Amino acid sequence: MTSPDAVRRAVAAVTDPELRRPIGDLDMVREITVEGDTAHVAIVLTIVGCPAASKIESDVRNAAASVAGIAAVDVEVGVMTPQERKALTEKLRDGRAPRQMPFGPDSLTRVILVSSGKGGVGKSTVTANLAVALADLGLAVGLVDADVHGFSIPGLLGIPAGTQPTRIDDLMLPPVAHGVKTISIGMFLRDGEGVVAWRGPMLHRTVSQFLTDVHFGDLDVLLIDMPPGTGDIAISIGQLLPHAEVLVVTTPQTAAADVAIRSGLVARQTGQTVIGVVENMAALTLPDGTVVDLFGSGGGAAVATALSTPDTVVPLLTSIPLSTALRAGGDAGEPVVLASETDAAATAIRDLARRLATRGRGLSGRSLPMSLS
Ligand code: ADP
Repeated sequence: MTSPDAVRRAVAAVTDPELRRPIGDLDMVREITVEGDTAHVAIVLTIVGCPAASKIESDVRNAAASVAGIAAVDVEVGVMTPQERKALTEKLRDGRAPRQMPFGPDSLTRVILVSSGKGGVGKSTVTANLAVALADLGLAVGLVDADVHGFSIPGLLGIPAGTQPTRIDDLMLPPVAHGVKTISIGMFLRDGEGVVAWRGPMLHRTVSQFLTDVHFGDLDVLLIDMPPGTGDIAISIGQLLPHAEVLVVTTPQTAAADVAIRSGLVARQTGQTVIGVVENMAALTLPDGTVVDLFGSGGGAAVATALSTPDTVVPLLTSIPLSTALRAGGDAGEPVVLASETDAAATAIRDLARRLATRGRGLSGRSLPMSLS
């Protein structure tokens, strides 16, 4: 007869899709018995109505059924007691005290802020695709949508409207989309509430809550989609993350370069490092060879030059062309970096991801803790 231990080993290896850890490590596996060729498996979930419940249950069923000698599986799903949940949240915090910010200067996570001088330059579209491309390279990626005026990240990643982070007591688990753990200010607005109601102190509290109470786990990279310009959020994040790296997104339009330069200079004043400029909406070449350059050219290079100092060259990291596929992928919530092998904008963003992934950390010179797969 099959031993319960063999079934337990198979079941314990099932991964919780939100916590991204084997359920055995999370103390979610209870009793396992085997009668003849039938396995009885009891598991406990963190909360009643856990959104991942049906996935975990079917993965557990399949895992148990895959063990030699098991023909039938019956799964009993329960819920953790408050004490068990407390033990789990402590384990997940990994010794960190509640409300302690894990992205401080000693963290191994690279924090990259994506800024722009003004709205509409494609900052969020680029950030969402870059996050997905980095995750696709095998990195553990988190994305914070701090663009209070836009909060378009959930839509760009296909996260359904109304999706909330899962809460385990005071820990919040970010929804995962295309491999990216994502949290957005839009997930915290009550029905009908606009961001106009949110002023400086409340924005500051919310952003620091994103960074302290959201359980991202161990990340290689945390991207933050910043609001355009140099307002309250930029200053709050500057205070919270003075060691962060900054990417400045701009269009090829040289007339718009000044505002982009200013956003880079403000970031630098708070101690952050501008690691490069991304030019978006660059000229598009049509199949018949016609070049459509809606926004002219030279803006990215102008911003990079203006932000460079005698000591530090700020490079123009890439120039992403205008792309219908990029726009349509954003509208559909299917990032073009995954959807298209050939689109020129997708290729440019994948190259940018590769370049960033292999770059050591700015000031400290540390490399990413993971190698690329
Ligand atoms: P921002 O975050 O800077 O306000 P968005 O990412 O919301 O800008 O982009 C603004 C609009 O431009 C969106 O409709 C988006 O689909 C579109 N867009 C962004 N980049 C490109 C591009 N390279 N080609 C075509 N459309 C783009």
